[in-house]
Amino acid sequence: MKPPPFRYAAPRSVAEALALLAEYGPEAKVLAGGQSLVPLLNMRLVRPEVIVDINRIGRLAYLRRRGDRLLVGALTRQREVEGSPLVARAVPLLAEAIRLVGHPQIRNRGTVGGSIAHADPAAELPAVLAALDGDVVVVGPAGTRVIGWTHFFTGYLTTAVGPDELVTEVRFPLPPPRSGSAFLEVARRHGDFALVGVAALVQREDGRMAAARLAFTGVGPGPLRAPEAEAFLAGREPTPEVLAEAGRLAAAPLEPPEDIHATAAYRKEVAAVLVRRALAAAWERSATRPRAGRSRAPRAGASERAPGG
Ligand SMILES: Cc1cc2nc3c(=O)[nH]c(=O)nc-3n(C[C@H](O)[C@H](O)[C@H](O)COP(=O)(O)OP(=O)(O)OC[C@H]3O[C@@H](n4cnc5c(N)ncnc54)[C@H](O)[C@@H]3O)c2cc1C
Repeated sequence: MKPPPFRYAAPRSVAEALALLAEYGPEAKVLAGGQSLVPLLNMRLVRPEVIVDINRIGRLAYLRRRGDRLLVGALTRQREVEGSPLVARAVPLLAEAIRLVGHPQIRNRGTVGGSIAHADPAAELPAVLAALDGDVVVVGPAGTRVIGWTHFFTGYLTTAVGPDELVTEVRFPLPPPRSGSAFLEVARRHGDFALVGVAALVQREDGRMAAARLAFTGVGPGPLRAPEAEAFLAGREPTPEVLAEAGRLAAAPLEPPEDIHATAAYRKEVAAVLVRRALAAAWERSATRPRAGRSRAPRAGASERAPGG
């Protein structure tokens, strides 16, 4: 199908984009990579009056490490993140998860800001943000807001971003020292959205898990953490029994969707298994990736790629 008619604007600065969004409000739609928006337009599920194409705002594309955070400009292509040695070193969980987003063609165009702003309930990047307790930077007429992930994702395909606001940056905190991470998912075919996905992050201390974090995708209206399982794991040795119990505790409160792809019961079962496996993988990696944490932060603001490059 073809999209409905719309006006097209290609602002060259954030200020210009904001002026357009202020003028058109909910009648405007931001276009980043177009990998979600264009199908929605073609299916006529959205009918904006104007498309605000932000692709010429080069300064929104960057990868930068500042202190204990990886800052990703909203327009940074997913493929750029995937191939970045900085990301692989600083936030291995993000590097691993992003390879599971669609196919290379999709990641060539798809942006980090677009994935976060679109907030698909089965997307990988929101779960990574949740596992790392990250933030999203949003600018609008009232200035800049830094929104923690818990307040950013407000429901199914909805976020705290207003119609006159733009996501400009996604901030991923670096994992703590002596930590390991893993992102596992089950999808019907390679490149499909996950039926269930799990991000796990564990911190190792004297043969025990000093702390663990778990975030799900595909089993709720947005990314979900597993607080009961996380509390259970803290301070425990990761024996097979402990990991299995963590899987049970993490899956128990889930109320996953039921659709043509899988039943809710199947998704819950898979969630428990993935938690167990992701924790085991993360634990193993915590022994071999001791330097992936915050202890080796290079100089503040070190940038791998110049803004707009
Ligand atoms: C076949 C296929 C398979 C896919 N598989 C996966 C998958 O497995 N996992 C996954 O996570 N994703 C998947 N995707 C989606 C892909 O990751 C998209 O790239 C992503 O969801 C949206 O990013 P985008 O840059 O393309 O945004 P767009 O499509 O341009 O925009 C998406 C939405 O976000 C808004 N938006 C975009 N940028 C901003 C901004 N800076 N500020 C405010 N609002 C903004 C737009 O207005 C729109 O509403 C798939 C897509 C396709 C076509």
